[in-house]
Amino acid sequence: MAEYDYDVLVIGAGPGGYVAAIRAAQLGLRTACAESRETLGGTCLNVGCIPSKALLHGSELFEEAAHGTLAKFGVKTSGVELDLPALQGEKANAVKDLTGGVAFLFKKNKVDWLQGHAAFRDAHTVAVAGKTVTAKNVVIATGSSVTPLPGVEVDNAKGLIVDSTGALALDRVPEHMVVIGGGVIGLELGSVWRRLGAKVTVVEFLDQLLPGMDGEVRKEAGKLFKKQGMEFKLSTKVTKAVVKGKKVTLTLEPAAGGAAEMLEADCVLVSIGRRPNTEGLGLDQIGLELNKRGQIETGHDFATKVPGVWAIGDVIPGPMLAHKAEDEGIAVAENIAGQIGVVNHDVIPSVVYTMPEIAGVGLTEEQAKEAMAAKGREVKVGKFPMLANSRAKTNRETDGFVKVIADAQTDRVLGVWMIASVAGTMIAQAAQAMEFGATSEDIAYTCHAHPTHSEAVKEAAMAVRGKPIHM
Ligand code: FAD
Ligand code: NAD
Repeated sequence: MAEYDYDVLVIGAGPGGYVAAIRAAQLGLRTACAESRETLGGTCLNVGCIPSKALLHGSELFEEAAHGTLAKFGVKTSGVELDLPALQGEKANAVKDLTGGVAFLFKKNKVDWLQGHAAFRDAHTVAVAGKTVTAKNVVIATGSSVTPLPGVEVDNAKGLIVDSTGALALDRVPEHMVVIGGGVIGLELGSVWRRLGAKVTVVEFLDQLLPGMDGEVRKEAGKLFKKQGMEFKLSTKVTKAVVKGKKVTLTLEPAAGGAAEMLEADCVLVSIGRRPNTEGLGLDQIGLELNKRGQIETGHDFATKVPGVWAIGDVIPGPMLAHKAEDEGIAVAENIAGQIGVVNHDVIPSVVYTMPEIAGVGLTEEQAKEAMAAKGREVKVGKFPMLANSRAKTNRETDGFVKVIADAQTDRVLGVWMIASVAGTMIAQAAQAMEFGATSEDIAYTCHAHPTHSEAVKEAAMAVRGKPIHM
């Protein structure tokens, strides 16, 4: 009889956990995955990436029809109306298809799904739904949850003060939505409800939106969202929320302190970040401590300090992104199987799925300058506006630009940032080029199909050496 019930037990079936489980099974390991939700796929498939993209897509179609973009191209529509239940229904279908798809893949790969909350008894023993399971290796992939804001209590059921999960499920278009936090969730979901008819005000603690992104991109994004009708209160914090009937009154103060002002809303979205899920996991039972940010630390191989216990995804340091979690899921399974699983954390693209989309990979210009200065070197930056890209011009999607940042001495690409209607798709080539250690010249001399938005990446790379063609 085997010493353990399983070779690998994964806790959490988000993009990190379900991918780790499938890869482990593909590598011949007896694998189970514990998940407390009723469906697989974690935050991303159930209440994150997928439902938000369904609403972003639907609301974009609505805006195109309602505000004349379709008409401009000869598609005449009249009496455009929003059928919110239908939009929410289509979102639910996408979620059902994809979460069901993971269940299918588990069956196909013979991964046992243990439904219930998992907690360690010891490093190789985990209790799930009243049963005890043993495994030679346990992978913690428990993800993250919304960071609460003291004084602003979320109640998704009422739909007045909501987090991202509540904002994905509203059954009405609020008249005035106040978004607390001008990060990725705030701008994506704020865009959804603005397109559907809400007045949207974003309250952001910092003096710019989208912390962590390239400075010029952040500035341009602010300008574009303002042009689209979003209102911003930067360098401002919310200190209190009072619900009265169907209205919420917020108390706002300058971030640096000062006179308070009141703001009334019929829906408030709290989107000030997410924090790792480690509560109730029994980490004390295995002596695994958290870092100051509540995350589990691992080595490059995703092993924790406790032998046989590994961790991946949002619960460990790094950007909280589904594709980062997925890649770590593959790598951890390969490491458990005795292979060499690696993730290049320097080349993880990030995308904000607004219109236009915002995307970046590698260092921002500010980070690149600092990193190069430390080596006594400089950076060269090439920029190309979407206004000069033929396809963007043809499609009437001329907002934004592409920016390529390279080491001035070696020409190696250090980062690529962009705002463009399809930046989320365009960033893939930049990530691949950087993964292969490309120079800006490599990108500039790669033949790009015409007419495509991606030609702007080629031209920005050409601009690094000062010679784009169409500018
Ligand atoms: P999760 O997806 O959070 O999954 C962890 C799972 O573990 C959960 O299902 C949870 O129920 C389960 N679990 C936790 N504890 C236990 C336990 N003790 N026992 C059993 N099960 C447990 N990222 C992108 O890259 N692109 C996007 O477009 C994007 N959009 C997003 C939109 C929103 C609104 C949100 C909230 C997030 C979005 N993200 C996006 C982030 C993305 O969802 C996360 O980075 C990703 O889901 C992390 O994957 P994970 O596997 O680490 O954890
Ligand atoms: P975020 O970290 O992107 O943004 C939070 C924002 O809130 C920041 O701008 C921060 O300065 C601000 N903030 C913090 N405290 C505040 C306060 N008290 N008052 C006002 N503003 C405050 O976090 P998020 O938007 O909640 O998203 C959480 C995570 O989910 C992110 O890490 C992101 O990577 C991930 N996500 C990714 C995508 C995507 O890839 N497209 C989409 C949604 C979410």
